[in-house]
Amino acid sequence: MNMIPTTDAGSLRQASIGALLFDMDGVIYRGDTLIPEVPAFLAALDAAGVMWSMATNNATKTQLDYVQKLAGMGIDAPESRIVTSAIATASYLRHLSLIHISEPTRPY
Ligand SMILES: [Mg+2]
Repeated sequence: MNMIPTTDAGSLRQASIGALLFDMDGVIYRGDTLIPEVPAFLAALDAAGVMWSMATNNATKTQLDYVQKLAGMGIDAPESRIVTSAIATASYLRHLSLIHISEPTRPY
């Protein structure tokens, strides 16, 4: 089934969606090409107050690498909305109290 996301903020509000986590490659972009429907969909999510973040299992790049990649495609996504497998692993280990990893310090 091919799902086409709505860009109607009212419909998104009615769906009572609290938050969405998107895989990036193949969902937000393919390679270096933005999927055309993404900007309008993210704008509708913002208008509806639906929190969104983006995830990747690619551990070779940092959150900032993805911020810059997305910015180059016209998508404004701060580091706090990018979840890499390295960040998820650190968070999980911190949750288990297996290791001490400081929360990242943000300049803003
Ligand atoms: Mg993917």
